[in-house]
Amino acid sequence: MATPLSADRFLAALRAEGVKVAERSGWRTHNRNSKGAWGPVNGIVIHHTAGTNSLNLCWSGTADLPGPLCHTHLAKTGVATMLSAGRANHAGTFAANAFNSMLNESSTHPRPDAAEPVDANARTYGIEIENLGNGSDPYPAAQYDQAVRWAAALCRAHGWTAHSVIGHKEGTRRKIDPSFDMDAFRDAVAARLAHDAGWSPGTNTSSGDSAATKTGDDDMPDYVNLGVAEPYELRPGGWDSIEFTREWSDTAGDHATNGSVWARGPARFTGTVSLHIEELPVGEVVQARMSEYEGDRFVQDHPIHEVIGTAGGTFAVIPLTKRIASGRGMRVRLRNYSDQPVTVSSAVLTVLSWKES
Ligand SMILES: [Zn+2]
Repeated sequence: MATPLSADRFLAALRAEGVKVAERSGWRTHNRNSKGAWGPVNGIVIHHTAGTNSLNLCWSGTADLPGPLCHTHLAKTGVATMLSAGRANHAGTFAANAFNSMLNESSTHPRPDAAEPVDANARTYGIEIENLGNGSDPYPAAQYDQAVRWAAALCRAHGWTAHSVIGHKEGTRRKIDPSFDMDAFRDAVAARLAHDAGWSPGTNTSSGDSAATKTGDDDMPDYVNLGVAEPYELRPGGWDSIEFTREWSDTAGDHATNGSVWARGPARFTGTVSLHIEELPVGEVVQARMSEYEGDRFVQDHPIHEVIGTAGGTFAVIPLTKRIASGRGMRVRLRNYSDQPVTVSSAVLTVLSWKES
């Protein structure tokens, strides 16, 4: 669940991801907000226009379905034109099972139920990709790449995985768009999210905004410095990822807003996470370990470190040194082995990382 991006943040996210953005005059205030809610947002819906020269139609809509009909219109040429930063008439209603699989970033997207209780216009971003949608009209590579970048930019801005992206046909039985395979599309979005925003497929180096903040020296490490904005309770039992809600530095661009992933492969990194735990009884144990994920799927754990309760608050420094493979994200997880809740009053992660090709 997330607050919708402002028009400025929307634009900045797209440009950082390499989307060739055009702005239709008046787009910032062109919306359907007077007709219903806009936000909280939970996902991204991909459409095809089923027509050509559809920019004006997507802006104005029809008597029955007033515009804007999407947030962004993507022409065959690959130009992405901003039409709205608010509620748009693109998705209509969604089935609950389809909506929830998107919201929960499930790795499966079930056939939508017939009942459609969800106001998806309030809860999703939408792009209309110019295409006849007849299965034989091709999507030029440049256009498809722009669509992937558009979706990845929004995922990155919100800290979502590629499973927050669904096709219109996956949200409702009423629709068949888009006419391409959504699993392949999500794979392409996930590949982008494993790299910096400025990445281009088939290259090892980055270009664009995120790389521009670096020095240009390939041997310079990225500096990642994260923490938790508020103390939080860690209950006994179960492994729990630290959500890093404070970001002082992330030149690698690997840490998504409020996310628990702080390094993405391929990379090598070294550093520490310093913990301050309160209410841990003397001699009782909290364990800490690094855990690798592929998107939201757990892959493997790395050796455990024990934090043993001491009088007057417990402090520990956990080493974080590892190589992480392409497509993987690293988290720190904690497990409370005492029989009472403890408070993690601070968790400061300080890491240097080197991207590998
Ligand atoms: Zn559609």
